[in-house]
Amino acid sequence: MRKPVIAGNWKMYKTVSESVETILSLKPMVANANHCEVVVAPVFTALKTVADRLEGSNIQVSGQNCSTEMEYGAHTGEVAAVMLRDVGCTHVIVGHSERREHYFETDSMINRKAQAALAADLTVILCVGETLSQRDQGNAERVVSGQLSGGLSGLTASDLARIIVAYEPVWAIGTGRTATPEQAQEMHAFIRRVFTQRHSEETAHGLRILYGGSVKPDNIAGLMRKEDVDGALVGGASLDAETFAGIVNYDR
Ligand code: PEP
Repeated sequence: MRKPVIAGNWKMYKTVSESVETILSLKPMVANANHCEVVVAPVFTALKTVADRLEGSNIQVSGQNCSTEMEYGAHTGEVAAVMLRDVGCTHVIVGHSERREHYFETDSMINRKAQAALAADLTVILCVGETLSQRDQGNAERVVSGQLSGGLSGLTASDLARIIVAYEPVWAIGTGRTATPEQAQEMHAFIRRVFTQRHSEETAHGLRILYGGSVKPDNIAGLMRKEDVDGALVGGASLDAETFAGIVNYDR
């Protein structure tokens, strides 16, 4: 049985005090959510404070990005995966479409970030997903398959056990246009098939595949009913504690 994961990506929102305010509201609202793992991903500057305030709770903390570099060094502006672990993170998001698009991250950079994160004992949330024009041209599966092979290159079976894939069609992120549960299921089943072919049945079976793209309290239950949807990566709707709690506590 795969335990669902509901993760909130706060992007570049919230100061430290705003982050604390949000998690203090969120904590009691999701305290009984034993059906899933709950993760929040604040900005770098708020990570330590948030992780400290969440200690002993059922909410885990994720970075939104990490450096490609494993060793300390002259990498101005970068934060190493091991430093995320040091401040209490358990997860890190890599390959978010905003980073691929606006910061020109390639699959090989994303692969190095994933390797660094695994070496730092973090669980990796690897984002993949096609643009609208790629989907319209019939290339969605090819694009996602390429992102998976590039992003996961060289990982062992035990590494793959600490990978979560987030399928986030770019056309659904922040647009209010969610993929239908059927569209999500179709791509999630494809991703699981890719894992079966490239890795093993066991790895594919254990893989958690999250859907991301305009998830809200009123569409999460339909998505979660699909066999291969194992949770959600939530952007905008995770910023408000009550709304995010409404997603975590979806109708089961
Ligand atoms: C995201 O940023 O990962 C995301 C899915 O955003 P939104 O929920 O706002 O579409």
